Amino acid sequence: MKCDRCDNTAAYSRKYSGENLCVNCFSNSILQKTARTISKYNMIENDDIVGVAVSGGKDSLSLLHILKKMSESHNFKLKAITVDEGISGYRDEALEIVKSFCNNIGVEYKVFPYKELFDITLQESLELRENEKTSSCSICGILRRRAIDFGAKDLGVDVVATGHNLDDVLQTFVINVLSGDVNKIGWMNPDTSSNKTRKIKPFCEIYENEIVFYAFVNEIPFQSEQCPHMNEGIRTEIREFLNSLENKHGGIKNNMYKSIMKISSVVKGSNYKQRKICSKCGSECTGDICSVCSMLVNLKRS
Ligand code: SF4
Ligand code: ZN
Repeated sequence: MKCDRCDNTAAYSRKYSGENLCVNCFSNSILQKTARTISKYNMIENDDIVGVAVSGGKDSLSLLHILKKMSESHNFKLKAITVDEGISGYRDEALEIVKSFCNNIGVEYKVFPYKELFDITLQESLELRENEKTSSCSICGILRRRAIDFGAKDLGVDVVATGHNLDDVLQTFVINVLSGDVNKIGWMNPDTSSNKTRKIKPFCEIYENEIVFYAFVNEIPFQSEQCPHMNEGIRTEIREFLNSLENKHGGIKNNMYKSIMKISSVVKGSNYKQRKICSKCGSECTGDICSVCSMLVNLKRS
C-alpha cells in the first residue's frame, strides 16, 4: 500500500482519519500536530527556556526529541528536569536512559530526588501511609508536581512541558468524574494564561499509540519496564476500557477530548478560587496549608 502523502510504502494506518502514511510522513504529521497544539494555545513564547519533565518513558523522550527539532528553527531553549522518586529497582534504568539521551542531543538536564527535596523517598512514604486507600500514585503525583516546580525554579525555566498525551487527558477526566472531583476538571484546560509557572502538554491532542510508534520509528530508546505501582489505581482499567471503545469506534477519543475541553473551560470559569500562600512552605495553594505539606505532616506523624 502506498503512502497517501508521497510515493513511499505506507507503514501506518491512521484509523480515525483513514489515512495511510509512510514512516517519514507519519513522523512529520506528529511534528506538525504538536506544533499546531503549541501555537493554538500559545504554549511557548519567544525567548522562553522550556523545561521538559523527562521521566525516561516514551512520551517524555519523544517530546524532548520533537521540541529539540523545533528549537533548531525557533527562538526557544530547552532544559530537562528529571524526578527521582526513589523507587528501588525501577528508576535507575530510566535515569541512565535520560542521561545518555540528553547528552546525545546536547540538552542540559538535572535530577531532583524526592529524598533531597522532601527528606523521604516514595518507598519510605508508602511504608508510612496509614490509609491504604491512598494510592501510591496519588502520593507520588503530589510530590512529583512539587519536585517539578522546584526543578523549574532551580533551572530558571519559563515554562514546564510534560509528555501527557490525549489518552492521559481522557483517563484523568474519567478519574476526576468517578471520584467526584469536579474542581480538578477545571484545571484540565490547556489555557495557562492565569497560571504563574506555565505548564504545558504539547502532546495533549495526540493518541498514545501514535507516540509509541513515533518513538519506535525514530529509534528513541525508552524504558519499557513499568513502575511496580502502576496497576494499583483505577487508571489502567480506564485505559483498557477507552482503548476497546476506540477499537470499535475509531475517532471516539478525539470526540471525547473535544467535549472535555468544553466542559473544562466552563468549570474553570465558574470555579475561580483565590490563591493563598501555604503557611509552612510559602508556595501557592488554595487553603492555609498546601497539599504537599499536609501530606508530609500526616505521613511523618505516623
Ligand atoms: Fe509514581 Fe504511580 Fe508513576 Fe509509579 S506509576 S512513578 S507510583 S505516579
Ligand atoms: Zn509518505
